[in-house]
Amino acid sequence: MRITAVEVRLLEYELEEPFYPAWFPGYPQTFNRVNLVILETDEGLTGYSAGPAFGAEAARLGELVAPFLVGQDPFNVEEIVQILRSATFLGQRIWYLEPALWDLIGKACNQPVYKLLGGFQDRVRAYASTGELRGVEERLEYLEDVRKLGIKAVKLRFHSLDWREDLKVAQAVRERFPEMELMVDANMGWRVAGMGEAPRWDLSTAVRMARELEELGVLWLEEPLDKHDYRGYRLLRQKVNLPLAGGEMNQDLHEFRELVRQECLDILQPDATLSGGILMARKVAALAEAHNLGFAPHTWTNGLGLAINLQVMGAAPNCHWAEWPFEPPGWTPKARDFFLKEPIMVEEGYIQIPQKPGLGVEVDPEAVEEYSKRDL
Ligand SMILES: [Mg+2]
Repeated sequence: MRITAVEVRLLEYELEEPFYPAWFPGYPQTFNRVNLVILETDEGLTGYSAGPAFGAEAARLGELVAPFLVGQDPFNVEEIVQILRSATFLGQRIWYLEPALWDLIGKACNQPVYKLLGGFQDRVRAYASTGELRGVEERLEYLEDVRKLGIKAVKLRFHSLDWREDLKVAQAVRERFPEMELMVDANMGWRVAGMGEAPRWDLSTAVRMARELEELGVLWLEEPLDKHDYRGYRLLRQKVNLPLAGGEMNQDLHEFRELVRQECLDILQPDATLSGGILMARKVAALAEAHNLGFAPHTWTNGLGLAINLQVMGAAPNCHWAEWPFEPPGWTPKARDFFLKEPIMVEEGYIQIPQKPGLGVEVDPEAVEEYSKRDL
């Protein structure tokens, strides 16, 4: 099989209600924008992948990579990853092209990708991942809704300028719902500042927070420090007993090697669309397994990104939780998965690993046409 054409198309879905991402203070998000990768082949198979878009920054990406990818055999993932890696030299972080190769491989083999990576599980326990900072009452209502969906774990965002406000929410949730599992994400790994005032934790704040959250029986604290502060993580991990998670925006094998070698984290969280691709994420899962660490990929990009990471989870024996992004009214399953034929939902507390050949889900060509932004 040979790649005959590469297209990266900007899709733009207007959210029903604005979404206020905790990690992006001062920026009301009104669209879900997606860079949809479309690989055509001489065997008539089409491979898809998707990455996040802010605007039209990837408008000419297809043009940039086509001379390198056309004529390649999509089975040669390692060889093509060298090309994607060299694009980082141009400031382009285009790891999200790699899963499109796996979509083709899976379709050619008539198998979902997780079985080709070493199938382990066909479902993973879901946790509802919040996206906004909300007050106590609003967050308790959210928990009620989530419980009705059969979900038994929730990840809260901590990003208030005064962390005591965040802690109040976690304490109230713990008190009202003692049976729910809780995780906390501070989003300090790749802090976004500029549109609004953004908090920054120092090591002593992170220590203090970890101790408070340990009292509440929280499962993990995610990204309390910068993603490259290996020393800070090591010191923090030595001082507290709460499991630390991170790595969603770390990339390539050597950064994950350092996170492991310097004993920074208990749970590694690469995202196959952001960190180096499906094969890279599978390698990180093995690296974690060899060091008795957990593996819980980040999934918050779009529905296809979620499906891509689910395929890796299905092959990872050290993966026990799947992130299910859910923050209505802005970030609904419909808004997240708008270009898939069916949204990815939770059943009895679990997400099934999508079973169709390739990435497991079907991209909806009509939705792709409807939401394509062409006046770039
Ligand atoms: Mg996170």
